[in-house]
Amino acid sequence: MFKHTLRSFICIVCVYLFKVVTFAADAQSEIEPYIEYETEPVDMRELESLYYAHGVTGASASPLSDKYIALTFDDGPHKSYTPQILDILSEYNVKATFFIVGKNCEKYPELAERIIDEGHEIGNHTYSHLTNIAKADEGTILRELLRVEDALHELRGYRPRVFRPPGGIYNATIDRIATQLNYTAVLWNVDTHDWKCPPSPRIASEVLNKVKPGYIILMHDYVVGASNTPAALRKFLPSLIESGYRFVTVTELINMSGTPEE
Ligand SMILES: [Zn+2]
Repeated sequence: MFKHTLRSFICIVCVYLFKVVTFAADAQSEIEPYIEYETEPVDMRELESLYYAHGVTGASASPLSDKYIALTFDDGPHKSYTPQILDILSEYNVKATFFIVGKNCEKYPELAERIIDEGHEIGNHTYSHLTNIAKADEGTILRELLRVEDALHELRGYRPRVFRPPGGIYNATIDRIATQLNYTAVLWNVDTHDWKCPPSPRIASEVLNKVKPGYIILMHDYVVGASNTPAALRKFLPSLIESGYRFVTVTELINMSGTPEE
């Protein structure tokens, strides 16, 4: 049982991981969420040892017989794409998780409130979309996470429980801080690459071809350029609903899986 759950856990939190990305260490005054990361499939054995050595908990898959999945949207809120996506989710009665960037939350607090008020989950994606998080010191990472918490607390007294590091970059320092702040680190199983603004049918087919029960889907509600994510949602949501899929928040998905048996 433990091994099974362990394997499920590995599946849910990773697809791309641990490719160290180097960036110029210049101070960024603007948000740059759209740097293309070089990624490669993770070595499952390595990931297994890393996650458990570092005590990351939660985030195992739901049983395969249950067709629950979690849609996630990163980097927002965005003044036009976030409302469009919220409208569509509401239309289909679908709950999702938004990994927000603190700066954008401060810019569009009414959208963060709307996300909460409509029953979606908000996760922490750092204050400034800290793209060089792998090289940041502990104090910087802590400040980045806590500033998001402060912004949300001021809105609705909301406390995020899940954290997604920008770019899915993860190491022992990030892990230690996430654990210290009582976060569950969450990555993804299917990356739609929607931030590159591919045509909506391509985003939709990426989801429809790769989705499996218990999976986390990565999308973005903040995109530079003309986002096709809302149009893609209109294409794949009816198909998934028709095939019996149900949509829950990331925390709900984690809670469905139970805890590993020792
Ligand atoms: Zn991001």
